[in-house]
Amino acid sequence: MDSCIFCKIIKGEIPCNKVYEDEKILAFKDISPEAPVHILIIPKKHIESLSTLEEDDKDVISHIFIKAKEIGEKMGIAQSGYRIVNNCGVDGGQTVSHMHFHILGGRSLQWPPG
Ligand code: 5GP
Ligand code: ZN
Repeated sequence: MDSCIFCKIIKGEIPCNKVYEDEKILAFKDISPEAPVHILIIPKKHIESLSTLEEDDKDVISHIFIKAKEIGEKMGIAQSGYRIVNNCGVDGGQTVSHMHFHILGGRSLQWPPG
Protein backbone atom coordinates (compact mmCIF):
# COMPACT_ATOMS: atom_id res chain seq x y z
CA MET A 1 0.00 0.00 0.00
CA ASP A 2 2.03 2.95 -1.32
CA SER A 3 -0.04 5.69 0.30
CA CYS A 4 -0.40 4.03 3.72
CA ILE A 5 1.36 6.02 6.44
CA PHE A 6 2.00 2.94 8.60
CA CYS A 7 3.41 0.98 5.64
CA LYS A 8 5.78 3.94 5.13
CA ILE A 9 6.82 3.72 8.79
CA ILE A 10 7.46 -0.03 8.37
CA LYS A 11 9.62 0.69 5.29
CA GLY A 12 11.54 3.39 7.19
CA GLU A 13 10.30 6.14 4.85
CA ILE A 14 8.74 7.96 7.82
CA PRO A 15 10.63 7.94 11.13
CA CYS A 16 9.13 6.54 14.29
CA ASN A 17 10.09 6.07 17.90
CA LYS A 18 10.44 2.29 17.80
CA VAL A 19 9.70 0.19 20.89
CA TYR A 20 9.80 -3.31 19.41
CA GLU A 21 10.23 -4.94 16.00
CA ASP A 22 10.40 -8.45 14.60
CA GLU A 23 9.64 -10.05 11.24
CA LYS A 24 5.87 -9.90 11.77
CA ILE A 25 5.12 -6.73 13.74
CA LEU A 26 6.30 -3.25 14.67
CA ALA A 27 5.55 -1.28 17.85
CA PHE A 28 6.23 2.45 18.16
CA LYS A 29 5.19 5.47 20.22
CA ASP A 30 2.05 7.30 19.11
CA ILE A 31 2.89 10.74 17.70
CA SER A 32 0.03 12.31 19.67
CA PRO A 33 -0.08 10.44 22.99
CA GLU A 34 -3.32 10.23 24.96
CA ALA A 35 -1.56 8.80 28.03
CA PRO A 36 1.98 8.80 29.49
CA VAL A 37 2.50 5.46 27.72
CA HIS A 38 0.85 5.27 24.28
CA ILE A 39 2.24 2.63 21.95
CA LEU A 40 0.87 1.42 18.62
CA ILE A 41 1.39 -2.19 17.57
CA ILE A 42 0.91 -2.96 13.90
CA PRO A 43 1.30 -6.02 11.68
CA LYS A 44 3.88 -5.59 8.92
CA LYS A 45 1.32 -7.02 6.52
CA HIS A 46 -1.08 -4.30 5.38
CA ILE A 47 -4.42 -5.32 6.87
CA GLU A 48 -6.91 -2.48 6.51
CA SER A 49 -8.88 -3.04 9.71
CA LEU A 50 -10.16 -5.71 12.04
CA SER A 51 -13.16 -6.04 9.74
CA THR A 52 -10.95 -7.20 6.85
CA LEU A 53 -9.05 -9.71 8.97
CA GLU A 54 -8.84 -13.19 7.41
CA GLU A 55 -8.47 -16.67 8.87
CA ASP A 56 -4.80 -16.72 7.78
CA ASP A 57 -4.12 -13.64 9.94
CA LYS A 58 -4.90 -15.33 13.24
CA ASP A 59 -1.23 -16.04 13.99
CA VAL A 60 -0.26 -12.38 13.74
CA ILE A 61 -3.14 -11.38 16.03
CA SER A 62 -2.08 -13.77 18.77
CA HIS A 63 1.53 -12.63 18.27
CA ILE A 64 0.48 -8.98 18.70
CA PHE A 65 -1.21 -9.76 22.03
CA ILE A 66 1.72 -11.77 23.40
CA LYS A 67 4.09 -8.93 22.47
CA ALA A 68 1.66 -6.33 23.89
CA LYS A 69 2.00 -8.09 27.21
CA GLU A 70 5.80 -7.98 26.96
CA ILE A 71 5.77 -4.31 25.89
CA GLY A 72 3.56 -3.51 28.91
CA GLU A 73 6.22 -5.09 31.12
CA LYS A 74 9.06 -3.26 29.31
CA MET A 75 7.28 0.10 29.63
CA GLY A 76 6.68 -0.43 33.35
CA ILE A 77 2.87 -0.45 33.25
CA ALA A 78 2.20 -4.16 33.74
CA GLN A 79 1.54 -3.80 37.46
CA SER A 80 -0.54 -0.61 37.36
CA GLY A 81 -2.48 -1.83 34.33
CA TYR A 82 -3.23 -0.62 30.84
CA ARG A 83 -5.83 -0.66 28.08
CA ILE A 84 -5.55 -2.15 24.60
CA VAL A 85 -7.77 -0.44 22.03
CA ASN A 86 -8.61 -1.24 18.43
CA ASN A 87 -10.60 1.36 16.53
CA CYS A 88 -12.36 -0.26 13.58
CA GLY A 89 -13.90 1.69 10.74
CA VAL A 90 -15.57 5.09 10.67
CA ASP A 91 -17.88 4.67 13.68
CA GLY A 92 -15.01 3.11 15.63
CA GLY A 93 -12.96 6.26 15.05
CA GLN A 94 -10.26 4.62 12.93
CA THR A 95 -8.19 7.33 11.24
CA VAL A 96 -5.34 5.22 9.81
CA SER A 97 -6.46 2.37 7.56
CA HIS A 98 -3.76 -0.07 8.61
CA MET A 99 -4.98 -2.18 11.51
CA HIS A 100 -3.34 -1.24 14.79
CA PHE A 101 -3.72 -1.76 18.50
CA HIS A 102 -3.16 1.08 20.97
CA ILE A 103 -1.54 0.26 24.33
CA LEU A 104 -2.45 3.02 26.79
CA GLY A 105 -1.17 3.26 30.32
CA GLY A 106 0.63 5.28 32.95
CA ARG A 107 -2.51 7.00 34.23
CA SER A 108 -6.00 6.04 35.32
CA LEU A 109 -8.11 5.59 32.18
CA GLN A 110 -11.83 6.24 32.49
CA TRP A 111 -14.31 3.93 30.79
CA PRO A 112 -16.53 4.74 29.04
CA PRO A 113 -14.60 7.71 27.64
CA GLY A 114 -16.24 11.11 28.11
P1 5GP B 1 -6.75 5.52 15.11
O1 5GP B 1 -7.46 6.80 15.38
O2 5GP B 1 -6.75 5.16 13.64
O3 5GP B 1 -7.18 4.37 15.98
O4 5GP B 1 -5.26 5.76 15.55
C1 5GP B 1 -4.28 6.26 14.71
C2 5GP B 1 -3.18 6.75 15.62
O5 5GP B 1 -2.03 6.94 14.82
C3 5GP B 1 -3.46 8.10 16.29
O6 5GP B 1 -3.42 7.93 17.70
C4 5GP B 1 -2.35 9.01 15.76
O7 5GP B 1 -1.87 9.90 16.75
C5 5GP B 1 -1.30 8.02 15.30
N1 5GP B 1 -0.48 8.48 14.20
C6 5GP B 1 -0.92 9.02 13.03
N2 5GP B 1 0.11 9.31 12.23
C7 5GP B 1 1.23 8.94 12.91
C8 5GP B 1 2.63 8.99 12.59
O8 5GP B 1 3.06 9.44 11.53
N3 5GP B 1 3.49 8.52 13.52
C9 5GP B 1 3.06 8.01 14.72
N4 5GP B 1 3.99 7.58 15.57
N5 5GP B 1 1.76 7.94 15.05
C10 5GP B 1 0.86 8.40 14.15
ZN1 ZN C 1 -0.37 -0.15 5.51
